[in-house]
Amino acid sequence: MQCNPQCNPMSRYRSKLGIIFLAAVLLGVSAPAQVGGQKWSAHWEPVKLVNGSPVLFRVTAPKQVTALTGNFLGQDLSFRLGQSCHCWYALAGVSLATKPGRYTLRVEGTEPGEKKAGMSYAVAVAAAHYPFSKINIPPAFVEPPKEAEPLIAEAEAAKKQAFATTDPNPLWAGRFEPPAEAETSGVFGTSRIVNGKQQSQHKGLDFRVSTGTPVHATNAGTVILARPLYFEGNCVMLDHGQGLVTIYMHLSEFKVKEGEKVAAGQLIALSGGTGRSTAPHLHFAVRWRGEYLDPRTLLELRPPEK
Ligand SMILES: [Zn+2]
Repeated sequence: MQCNPQCNPMSRYRSKLGIIFLAAVLLGVSAPAQVGGQKWSAHWEPVKLVNGSPVLFRVTAPKQVTALTGNFLGQDLSFRLGQSCHCWYALAGVSLATKPGRYTLRVEGTEPGEKKAGMSYAVAVAAAHYPFSKINIPPAFVEPPKEAEPLIAEAEAAKKQAFATTDPNPLWAGRFEPPAEAETSGVFGTSRIVNGKQQSQHKGLDFRVSTGTPVHATNAGTVILARPLYFEGNCVMLDHGQGLVTIYMHLSEFKVKEGEKVAAGQLIALSGGTGRSTAPHLHFAVRWRGEYLDPRTLLELRPPEK
């Protein structure tokens, strides 16, 4: 957990907060920024943020704040009030392309009478060290045959349409649970050398499961896609709201339909080896506002239960 009150761009408290920030840095501990008796603080998981990581922000705002919004890495955030933690929380993400550095989390609270009050925090992002791996895939999937082009185009259109239908409100609650009870293998971010050629990074987490293993919804959401796709095989996508989508690939059987609401932990499919897959396994991916993020980190976050 980290807390770095940095400065208040709302201005009149800038110097005072500067001193608090300096004190926090010197002491190496988190210190809430106190402005006119009003306390603000921010924490985030994971403590050490890297490119490709989801992040859970928790903000403690003065009691009179009735709504809280924010911005991080150019993305607008809408915070929810956690009853159990008495804090505001929101999920965000650091894209794989984000360079190491310090980025500003800006939050703004609405007080009675539409008064605004805000705070900014410096959030450090370090460089992730993702591994390399060599794999061999049937050449037809690396360079698909010409006759597959319409199928690939159809799959692209279906995905585009699915991503365009996400709910602006949060549909998830509490922790994200693993989609299958199994060991994981191919980790997120691994640079893949496919058939001897450098290809793009692996943007998901693989679960070692044989065909027919139950696959569960990691959290509550809506099924925005449940159909066969050329590379992904039988694929289910769940929208969890606010731009967060979880994706389950290479399935053998669907247990949900497009448009259906699902509860956390609900059976959504059986695993398989359909699509671009050398052997049966579950490829699980996390997409946040167009960027693929590390699923393992999402599964480790501890959002308030209520
Ligand atoms: Zn995979």
